[in-house]
Amino acid sequence: MNSLPPPLQQIDRKYVSYLGKRFVYFGGCDYFRLASHPDVLRAAREGLAKFGLNVSASRATTGNHRLYDRLEIALAKFFDVETALLVPNGYLTNLALAQTLAGKFSHALLDARAHASLVDAAQFLDCPVVKFLHRDVEDLGRVLRRLGSGVRPILLTEGMFSHDGSVAPLKAYLKMLPKDSLIMLDDAHGAGVLGTTGRGTAEFAGVSRRRIIQTITLSKAFGVYGGAILATRQLREQIIARSRLFTGSTPLPLPLARAALEAVDILRNGSRLRARLQRNANRLKAALSGAGFCEEPTPGPVVSLVPRHDREAQRLKRSLLCRRILPIFIQYPGGPAGGYFRFAISSEHTRTQLEDLMRALTEGRGSGNASVSAAGRSGSGSSRQERSERW
Ligand code: PMP
Repeated sequence: MNSLPPPLQQIDRKYVSYLGKRFVYFGGCDYFRLASHPDVLRAAREGLAKFGLNVSASRATTGNHRLYDRLEIALAKFFDVETALLVPNGYLTNLALAQTLAGKFSHALLDARAHASLVDAAQFLDCPVVKFLHRDVEDLGRVLRRLGSGVRPILLTEGMFSHDGSVAPLKAYLKMLPKDSLIMLDDAHGAGVLGTTGRGTAEFAGVSRRRIIQTITLSKAFGVYGGAILATRQLREQIIARSRLFTGSTPLPLPLARAALEAVDILRNGSRLRARLQRNANRLKAALSGAGFCEEPTPGPVVSLVPRHDREAQRLKRSLLCRRILPIFIQYPGGPAGGYFRFAISSEHTRTQLEDLMRALTEGRGSGNASVSAAGRSGSGSSRQERSERW
């Protein structure tokens, strides 16, 4: 990524304006479009009017506020954990947690495609970092055998991977890891989305969180901003005591904390929203699968396609533009190296919009079978330079 793309402007909950034109939007991670939900916006305005913008100090000094306590209690209830500790954003959750856990583990086992925040967090753990192949249980086994007995590793992975909606095989990891090891689970994308009550990837996978520490962001399914570490009371106290990042930074602006409270409430009663999101995602994935696109549908509401070559990328781009869908071609750490088209489905997309997307992809693909494939499976032959073209 050499420079930033031109700004996108949100028009309403489904459309964006880009370079002066209006497009249907399948980008971002606002899976329920809560960032523009009228109740969330009203709560933000109310928060601003009532509490002002910013506490302007660390919570460890004079920056604590009852809104933070309220939000942490609401999050703990939502996720069914002892406590939640707010951190300024999702990226910093992993760093603050790793600062706290530094020196406690023999090795950090890192998914080879882990998000940048986990890559950075691993550095804070103060132990050797060993990568294993992306979501690959067999390779993890090989790594563990190589390390031998007597090790106490911590495994770092996302829950749901944003590039293609796949999830980490948590059950298999837990089975394979030594009993006193832990998983640091960055559930930025799974939280609010996966599992029957939206508690995330562990709920989806049906595993206990006894050996999992889940970190979340409020900027995706919750549509607001901020991060939280879901923790036992003991771990919460340790983070407050040990994380320089936590004690040395200003917490979430108050209107956002107030808006997040509203968003948590919406998703607490959000079984209909989640069902709609799942239905939309399933509808598109089934159609794509039927048309020979995706080899392996993933659980998350994301579809990504890696064009085989530049001609195909251009064809897909044209066909999306024809249907007034913003073609979003991503080059982002963790995703396929050459870039990929990413489509994030929301609970608010209409059936017509999903059908339009399906048609655009069918028309845009080349002849022959599965000319585009699920991201993460095949690479792309074209150069980074060619791919960074802006639409
Ligand atoms: N983890 C993952 C997996 C993410 O995708 C992101 C955001 N792209 C983050 C952490 C960081 O979250 P935030 O944007 O709230 O800092």
